[in-house]
Amino acid sequence: MVQTHTHRSGGAADISAADISPSDGASSLVRRMLDAGLLAPTGVLGLYGRSGAYQDVADGIGMMVRRWGASLGARRLHLPPVLARATFAHTNYLESFPDLMGSVHVFTGGDAEHKQLLRRVESGGDWPALLEPAEVVLASAACHGVYPLCTGTLPEEGLTFDVQSSCFRHEPSAQAARMQSFVMHEIVHVGTAQSAWDHREEGLARGIRMLEALGLSMQAVPASDPFFGRVGSVLAAGQLEEQLKIEGVTPIPGTDGVTAIMSANCHRDHFGVPFSIRTAGGDVAHSACVAFGVDRIVVALLAVHGFEPERWPFYVRAQLGLAGTEG
Ligand SMILES: [Zn+2]
Repeated sequence: MVQTHTHRSGGAADISAADISPSDGASSLVRRMLDAGLLAPTGVLGLYGRSGAYQDVADGIGMMVRRWGASLGARRLHLPPVLARATFAHTNYLESFPDLMGSVHVFTGGDAEHKQLLRRVESGGDWPALLEPAEVVLASAACHGVYPLCTGTLPEEGLTFDVQSSCFRHEPSAQAARMQSFVMHEIVHVGTAQSAWDHREEGLARGIRMLEALGLSMQAVPASDPFFGRVGSVLAAGQLEEQLKIEGVTPIPGTDGVTAIMSANCHRDHFGVPFSIRTAGGDVAHSACVAFGVDRIVVALLAVHGFEPERWPFYVRAQLGLAGTEG
């Protein structure tokens, strides 16, 4: 199995859209986006390059979220696509979503181990088995990198962040809106139980309005995270019942049902406890995040308004800062 990869010749140039999913049925929307050059194939389902036109739309969405963050006095943070393993351990992500995470492994040997590694590669053997876990894992959510910055006692008004990072979730999918590597842009608040809840509520309304202003038909629905295993279904039921997660969903032409393109989440003290965050009043801090799936929003806009952003309605281009580009 490894052999076919290590002995593959020709490099990236011979990977065509057809290679991506001859048998696994990439959705027709993905195929059309690949054909139009909006996405570039990598040979892995759910992993794509983005064209300039695609990225311009993504940047426009980023500007809209930033304007909201600025109005809240949020601290802007652009976090790397990897997260300290120690921070990851505190998020309890492994307990709930072991099947979605990704870990980084590195080579730490000397000359002898290097020779062994190259022999292993050449023979098509299991060379990754010779690597060691690095001090980082792939980021699963943009907001995870924020909580260690809050350890200690918060100011009276709490802390608000505008945080963005490339995230990874191991869920190979044929659907355009479910990528393995995607950008997440969040407005995160850490404060009291009341201020966190208020942030979730106000952020949900604000986010829905923002996406509706782009011509998307939005609906807010209580949801649960895809918790792993049998214990997971109990967690999911509790989350639903307490309405801790509300998703902003929209129909994407060319896909079934509706797709979540944003979510507004109240974490209660899920992060306040492990990261030792206290409010000015001495209570364990609560947190809430409003997360925009930037790539899902781009895909939705392309599917709704067409593959040529320069021909989108003026009000949409104006919101995205694209209105001036055609002179
Ligand atoms: Zn978050």
